[in-house]
Amino acid sequence: MEKEFKLAKNQAWIEINLENLEHNIKEIQKIISKKTKIMAVVKANAYGHGAVLISKKLNEIGIFNFAVSSLKEGIELRENGILGNILIFGFTDYKNLEDVIKYDLIQTIIDYDYAKRIEKLDLSQKLKVHLKINTGMNRIGENYQNIEKIKEIFAIKNIEILGVFTHLAVSDSQTLEDINFTKSQINHFYQVINTLKSAGYSNFSSHIQSSYGILNYPELNLDYVRIGIIMYGVHSEKNIKTKVNINLKPVLTLKAKISSIHELDVNESISYGRTYITTSKIKVATVSIGYADGYPRSLSSKGIVLVNGKRRPILGRICMDQLIIDVTNMSIQVGDIVTLIGEDQNIKAEDVSYLANTISNELLSRLGNRLERIIKK
Ligand SMILES: *Cc1c(COP(=O)(O)O)cnc(C)c1O
Repeated sequence: MEKEFKLAKNQAWIEINLENLEHNIKEIQKIISKKTKIMAVVKANAYGHGAVLISKKLNEIGIFNFAVSSLKEGIELRENGILGNILIFGFTDYKNLEDVIKYDLIQTIIDYDYAKRIEKLDLSQKLKVHLKINTGMNRIGENYQNIEKIKEIFAIKNIEILGVFTHLAVSDSQTLEDINFTKSQINHFYQVINTLKSAGYSNFSSHIQSSYGILNYPELNLDYVRIGIIMYGVHSEKNIKTKVNINLKPVLTLKAKISSIHELDVNESISYGRTYITTSKIKVATVSIGYADGYPRSLSSKGIVLVNGKRRPILGRICMDQLIIDVTNMSIQVGDIVTLIGEDQNIKAEDVSYLANTISNELLSRLGNRLERIIKK
């Protein structure tokens, strides 16, 4: 405890357990086929974990394929010496495509119109791309039915198509209807791939699955799997059932310090809006973390934190930078550490996000830049 106190400059911080990251990678590699490579999804600052920190460790343990959501995120990795392929999932403005080339990144072709506009550009060299096919997510991607347009994209001279991929909309669900929908997405994707191959285009990789794609459809064995949430050692939701089970260890722990402790009488109110009124004499502590750090305000009078290993409730509204907890009958001091999300079974991201009415992906990716990321030794 004393050591953590000195390590962290701030009142609230994130500890990253890189051994757990390595453990999760090994567990994922057990599920996928030998020829399949992990494309580590490190978008949104690696789901709040710190993209550079996480990607450096991944490079060290032999992962050389990454995905980010934007050009800016790709440049950040390159400027910090990250090696390997980096695919940008989202839209990059035409006027910035020279930077995609300059930083040796790979752009997603998000649809036919995007490709045709790129064709008109006078680029310094061929733009490396993966082509996204829409098979039912209806977000980005050229529709799988437009096979002539897809072939036309393959004929464009100033792009080099290294990969073709699609994204599943309900791969996390085990209902019959959703399984059928997923199977139809997979079939439509294979249709496109086969048509392209018989048209003489064969020099590209293909990929479909993200985290729940591998846990529920492990039999697919394509060139890449795009892994986000489970690499960080958490499930999107609690009690989620999957075809294949995996032993995950959370990588992130969110901690903050107690700044003030005081006794309250019966009938006193706590925090903005006076939404919590004490019904007895209690002892409360103020913790230096708030919704500006990404800790959900919706957990006001609902959330649970760990103090000395014990679960204690948040009382009243969560503020921008502070929140108040019940520490009645506990012997604690200013400077003591509170855990808000973490490795501990009692404070898992799945449970915190459940209480906040969201999924772990959102909870973690919103953890703010004000929080220092410290490697757990
Ligand atoms: C975010 C994302 C992923 C990773 O999803 P997880 O469920 O976190 O594994 C994979 N593919 C695409 C296209 C994504 O946008």
